[in-house]
Amino acid sequence: MNNQLELYQQVILEHNRKPKNFGKLDSATHRAEGFNPICGDHFWVALQLNAEGRVEGIAFEGSGCAISKASASMMTEAVKGKTQADALTLCAQFQLLVKGEPKEGTSLGKLEVFSNIWKYPARVKCAGLAWHALQGAFAKTAVVSTETEEEAVTEKGPQS
Ligand code: ZN
Repeated sequence: MNNQLELYQQVILEHNRKPKNFGKLDSATHRAEGFNPICGDHFWVALQLNAEGRVEGIAFEGSGCAISKASASMMTEAVKGKTQADALTLCAQFQLLVKGEPKEGTSLGKLEVFSNIWKYPARVKCAGLAWHALQGAFAKTAVVSTETEEEAVTEKGPQS
């Protein structure tokens, strides 16, 4: 039917089935727990920064829907080897992408499979969860919830 939609589904299903960097990271220097109460997605992201501030190791564990798990899996692949600054820039770009407001002139490569997710507002938080947890880990915030951020509060209308 629609090639792009098929690609999107295949990539997400594949990462959901065989997530990358799934498990514990004993050498972790930073950790955060991310929770999306709307969907029930709940992950722990652990990372190891080396002396240069690069992400030397990263892993996640927990459970959630296919979108949240695939996004977490792809997040770990995308930030491994990056400096903290580059990883945080990617976080910000990814969050704009899933809101349907990608920064012009940037390509996020494989992560572009999430570029249509804004059409499903309930899923935006699923896709962004692991990235919020990553930001939390860098900031040494122990627990991150998709429902306690300022932006989530201001965007939230009356419960339907
Ligand atoms: Zn979800």
